[in-house]
Amino acid sequence: MVLALDPGITRVWRTPDSIQFGVDEPVLVLDGITSADERMLVALAAGVTAEGLRLVADRARAPSGAVAALLDRVAPVLAPDRREPPPTPPLVVLDGAGPTAVALGVLLSDAGADVRSGLDWSDAAVERADVAVIVASYAVEPQRQARWLRRDVPHLPIVFGDAGVTVGPYVRPGYGPCLRCVDLHRTDADPAWPAMATQLHTRDAPGETAIVVAATAALAAALLLAASAEPPHGPDPGVSARLPRGRCDWVSRAWAPHPECGCLGLPP
Ligand SMILES: [Zn+2]
Repeated sequence: MVLALDPGITRVWRTPDSIQFGVDEPVLVLDGITSADERMLVALAAGVTAEGLRLVADRARAPSGAVAALLDRVAPVLAPDRREPPPTPPLVVLDGAGPTAVALGVLLSDAGADVRSGLDWSDAAVERADVAVIVASYAVEPQRQARWLRRDVPHLPIVFGDAGVTVGPYVRPGYGPCLRCVDLHRTDADPAWPAMATQLHTRDAPGETAIVVAATAALAAALLLAASAEPPHGPDPGVSARLPRGRCDWVSRAWAPHPECGCLGLPP
């Protein structure tokens, strides 16, 4: 087994005998670093076996127990065991097309995700998807979101309207409001909404300018990567972010489950 300091944690000397791990959010500060400790830290930075580390300690005339003591102190900043298989990349299915879908695919692929797009509903990847992204104009067609809900696949809508773009709410089936809940709330606010929505689903996405594409893809990619990581880093279910046209700040909105939807097992 190779012991190594986590290369993702920045190391910086505070004083000649004190080293800090992490800058903006310090993880660990080691004071009283001896020259033997320093040599062992150099070895650990490069990666070393326990036997090799003992050899370094012996050559530096470290007292007995120095290796165990140092390893105990640096335990919070050691890299995971390199023999462990790398985690499986999240499988993200892009349900939709256009420049935002393309940009999002590039960002997610660059971050190591397994991104698929242009799939048939019969494709096996649809069933195995960890998360889906629905890119739509004005509103998400009920049957589109229902396909992901039925498969229990979390999904993130990106909806372009004539006054801005909305990302979310991120839907975790069974853990928060779904997109039908959102539609029912919109219908409560305007009973003509369903009739209008059916005329808008097939229209081109408005406002997909280069800057909006970049901002939207970056936000959606960050949300999706957080969602595929361990909780509690995932996005809050039921919260959408809206970028009004011509603005640079996202506006959050929380959505409640709609009592008539029944997606959470509530009585219809
Ligand atoms: Zn619902």
